[in-house]
Amino acid sequence: MLFLQEPHLIIITLFEKKMNKYIATNRWGTFFGVTQKTLDTVWNNLTSPNGASVIYISMEIGADRDVYHPIKSRLQHSDIDKNSTNLLRHYSKLFLNGPEKIPNYGGGLGILAGDTLKSFADLKIPAIAVSLLYRKGYFSQLVDSRLGQISTAADWTPENTPSLYLMKNPDFPELPLEIEVPFYDEEDREILARARLWLKMEVSSNLDFFIPEILLDYSIPSSPEWIRQVSQRLYDSISDQAKAVQRRLLGASIITIKKTLGLTSQTIHLNEQHGVVVVLNLIAEWLETQIGDNYQIKATDKDILDAADAVAKHIVFTIHTPVKAGHDRFNKSIISRIGHAFCGRILHLLAQDEENPNQFNFTKLAMHVNRSVNSVSRLHKEVTQKQFPQFARKITAITNGVHHLTWISDAKAALYDSFSELKNWREDPAVFVNAGLLFTSEDFRENLERAWKEDTKRLIDYINDMLSLHRKQMHETWIDPPNYLSNLDGGAQELRPDVYTIGFARRFSTYKRADLIFDDMDRLADIIVSNNFPVNFIYAGKAHPSDEPGKSIIKLVLDLQDDLYIKTNGLAKLIFIPGYDMNIAKMMVSGVHAWLNSPKRPLEASGTSGMKAAMNGVPNISTLDGWWVEGYHEGKTGWKFGYEADIDTACLSEAPSTLLYEQDSTSFYEIFPKILETFYDVQLHAQYIDKCIYNLQLNCPIFNTHRMAAEYADRYNMHLPDPVAKRLQKLRRIYQSDL
Ligand SMILES: *Cc1c(COP(=O)(O)O)cnc(C)c1O
Repeated sequence: MLFLQEPHLIIITLFEKKMNKYIATNRWGTFFGVTQKTLDTVWNNLTSPNGASVIYISMEIGADRDVYHPIKSRLQHSDIDKNSTNLLRHYSKLFLNGPEKIPNYGGGLGILAGDTLKSFADLKIPAIAVSLLYRKGYFSQLVDSRLGQISTAADWTPENTPSLYLMKNPDFPELPLEIEVPFYDEEDREILARARLWLKMEVSSNLDFFIPEILLDYSIPSSPEWIRQVSQRLYDSISDQAKAVQRRLLGASIITIKKTLGLTSQTIHLNEQHGVVVVLNLIAEWLETQIGDNYQIKATDKDILDAADAVAKHIVFTIHTPVKAGHDRFNKSIISRIGHAFCGRILHLLAQDEENPNQFNFTKLAMHVNRSVNSVSRLHKEVTQKQFPQFARKITAITNGVHHLTWISDAKAALYDSFSELKNWREDPAVFVNAGLLFTSEDFRENLERAWKEDTKRLIDYINDMLSLHRKQMHETWIDPPNYLSNLDGGAQELRPDVYTIGFARRFSTYKRADLIFDDMDRLADIIVSNNFPVNFIYAGKAHPSDEPGKSIIKLVLDLQDDLYIKTNGLAKLIFIPGYDMNIAKMMVSGVHAWLNSPKRPLEASGTSGMKAAMNGVPNISTLDGWWVEGYHEGKTGWKFGYEADIDTACLSEAPSTLLYEQDSTSFYEIFPKILETFYDVQLHAQYIDKCIYNLQLNCPIFNTHRMAAEYADRYNMHLPDPVAKRLQKLRRIYQSDL
């Protein structure tokens, strides 16, 4: 059945014309987007004596407003007129026209954090997040065909960014709230770093709950210059010391924030080990209560280990990657320059790196001190158990998800809204199991293709505009266009939306093998030419500025463009879109016809961009790694290729000679002609659409952050109000990651 108008819009226009009641105040400031009642409820939860809330610590949080913006959406459908108060008109103007980007994320980890917190808000799981505020963000990417990736500063101003508030000092409301975090030099002399607290509101889709995210701004005049320096950029790579200081700025702030804000949270969730310094502080705090003032001198090793056991009861740790570069190891000399000698003693007992006697290993500390370790997919659980045999028994799996309301395109959302079989999908993504009823609906199939074409057109239009813009810039700037096609004349440079379009976008690093399918260019070209099947290959992604091998793969992809074009007589076009961010990601995952992922198994712990594609009905073509092991469903939802035998620790190598280029690309060439045929052959095309519907039916209900948050809430083990607990229980019944 087809509704005439999007039902959620009807609700908004009928009941919520007025936004006056969405301004709320408490001792920390004045906030827009939730009612006073909601603000009070959220704050009462976080400070309630029962302690049923969680502090979620993450180095990065990605939640740009141009892909998801419940407050702005609501404003677009409400009346703000001259009768509105000045304050409301101020917020309205800011939220409708203010900057969309908060460049506080580098990639998958940060976006997962943002998606998780949005689901916490939608499900009313009481939580508060802590991260850092990077005034120069992560880097912005320019791409030049000769130079490859060029990084520039990502300038932004927190001061005029909607949803972001500088917290007030309740004793002196005209002053901002500041906290102090002690550092210690080699003689244990205290040096105070100071931070201002920004509060970002991650508001639920109905504006009836929110998760506060505290972003610590250490780049303020009262902080020492060297602290200000290293707090400017996410994953600053000037030195190991800068990295260690950043980690400490995050982890060592937690107890102070807890005290300052009066938080009672009994659980701390470490999203990756970056913030694990909090564990050192908690151990010290526990010893102080047991032993008293001189605990640093009096505590025995056994006391410290007992304290670690006590602290462990409060820690939930998610490990995100088997790749070594993802695990912080620091020289002991660096740690002794910034932390107290007593912290060194704790680290000595709990974080000694096995391979290098001069280093502490922060992953090991996090592995040690927790009540639950989660890997991010079933396969990753197996890998992590092999990597950390000492902790194997407590390692479990909670497979990642994505926030469905963020990643489903407008066109697809309107489609889902208009079929009663999917009624309520916004509140409950488990509803998508009913997509199975739609296989035989011609109406649905036609409308799915229509919505998809709309999304493809948006992507292809964006690319064509980009190509001609770069062509113009070539004459006006020193940058050589990153795409070969910008140099071509006439219509040849234009992409067409009816051409089979494959997307690949993620961080560039060696194990992700972005160039894998071009390994044998002649063979790839032959498949395309002999079948006369045109193909668009759309690529995007950043490499960390200090990851030279990653950057060289970007350069390699650029260098392949003309070769591919010429060898296929112009049938294949390989495009690189610079400046990958959430907006480009959403355009790509919803607009392409297939999503490609080619990591070396088993190094992709989960991967999430493929889930975003699946939510839009887009099939994946992927090596059997990460989430795809669970999402592949014997080929119903897409295609697999490459090595898939059992994993052992030898597979974890990233050395060039172990990356299986020849074997896995050959496997891709074997399935590729069939994929193209299924898409292009009118007799077979219905099978292609079946795969899309299978993605809705089999993958949407599982690979979303609502289900994932429900599994985490179980690990948090906290008492929640009945309706919340029941809703989470229902979500958990659909899928259990930890088999
Ligand atoms: C989803 C996303 C990622 C993560 O993609 P993976 O497949 O997990 O590597 C990285 N960057 C952006 C901008 C994204 O939207």
